[in-house]
Amino acid sequence: MAKHQFQTEVSQILHLMIHSLYSNKEIFVRELVSNSSDALDKLNMLVLTDDAYKGVNFAPRIDIIIDKEAKTLTISDSGIGMNEADLVENLGTIAKSGTKAFLEKLSGDQKKDSNLIGQFGVGFYASFMVADKVEVISRKAGEEQAYKWSSMAGSEYDLEPAERDSHGTSIIMHLKDDESEFLETHRIDSIVKKYSNHIPFPIYMDKEEWVAPAEGEEKGHNELVNKQINKANALWTISKSEISDEEYKDFYSSIAHDSSEPLLWMHNRAEGTLEYTTLFYVPAKAPMDLYRVDYQSGIKLYINRVFITDDEKELMPTYLRFLRGVIDSADLPLNVSREILQSNRVMAKIKNASVKKVLSELAKVSENDAEKYDAFYKEFGNVLKEGLYSDMGNRERILELLKLNTLNSAEPVMFSKFVEGVDAEKKEIYYISAKMSLQMLKNSPALE
Ligand code: ADP
Ligand code: MG
Repeated sequence: MAKHQFQTEVSQILHLMIHSLYSNKEIFVRELVSNSSDALDKLNMLVLTDDAYKGVNFAPRIDIIIDKEAKTLTISDSGIGMNEADLVENLGTIAKSGTKAFLEKLSGDQKKDSNLIGQFGVGFYASFMVADKVEVISRKAGEEQAYKWSSMAGSEYDLEPAERDSHGTSIIMHLKDDESEFLETHRIDSIVKKYSNHIPFPIYMDKEEWVAPAEGEEKGHNELVNKQINKANALWTISKSEISDEEYKDFYSSIAHDSSEPLLWMHNRAEGTLEYTTLFYVPAKAPMDLYRVDYQSGIKLYINRVFITDDEKELMPTYLRFLRGVIDSADLPLNVSREILQSNRVMAKIKNASVKKVLSELAKVSENDAEKYDAFYKEFGNVLKEGLYSDMGNRERILELLKLNTLNSAEPVMFSKFVEGVDAEKKEIYYISAKMSLQMLKNSPALE
């Protein structure tokens, strides 16, 4: 058995998981299921596009196994898996440079804090909120040797060769004594339904089921039945009228790793020369990395329901980087590379149409629900403004979405409203900007 040292940031994250985050612990299930779903997505794409994976059997599933006697909860998948190097890289270090900022920001409001876990790409370590020991047994697709990673947090972990029947990953959590609620099937069942109902792969678990008495029998009995416990329908592919608000919100939680409700969503299906579906959410609160250059893109690209990437910032313009959601198109080649994606005409059209759609939806909100629009503008107005100089084609549209102070109003007004009040003869609108107070601006001699 070989001992390895965690990177310092990992130790810090682990310390925090164990000692500071007490509320909303249940999200560890969401994070691990989301990792399994990612692993299935990755294998799915390789099997479809890479000859090296032709022989790999893709039978996507996630299994949740409760062992009350051993006090373990296991989340297992038939995804891409990890080899020895992957385990060291993925579960021993944190690649993202934003992590330090994450650590510094954490404090106070516990609930908020655990919300940040997924946002910052440290979801796996959430398992240590409920477990004092975590084992990961993984075998990479196309490779023979499996490995076991295990840790009791602190500063080090163990790595050794292991056995696994086929490719995929099992996360075995030895639950702390006071976390036995996560050994209850109905508890896990409801967490999965809440956060992971609409990931596109089936999740199975043994559930007690009542079996009615057979003929000649007096009493029925309970039996353990292995059942699929999530709907596993990619939500965006369902027609709007069949999706409840609750389902939209739950899906948001699973893709945005955010337990608070989204501010609004826009679900759109385009048919005709180009076929694609978009489902965009605007979060209620700005993600913490909104003003960082290395911000995490929130848009996942699918091609015909096959996940392609969630790490492509060109999918939407940077001034809409607060959006979370999905673009799914049937008109792109599956083996699309990053370079192709960036110069692809279909992608460019989808992007253009999507931007126009988002801007027009925002305009609708500003007309129909001033309060909601204010909430949006408070969080994202400044980011939206970046579009004025980065997206000339949509400049007018963006301009109409701005709220600005004027000489004659006490509150900022929508630019579109302001323009209505300007007399038709006027050809110019003057503006002034500064960091000082509004009153000082209004008294500025430049206004003369
Ligand atoms: P993130 O998912 O945001 O990258 P996590 O902390 O949740 O961050 O996971 C870290 C990494 O570990 C993942 O990016 C992935 O490479 C790897 N990983 C975690 N769980 C699995 C799994 N079930 N199968 C394959 N790889 C996994
Ligand atoms: Mg994750």
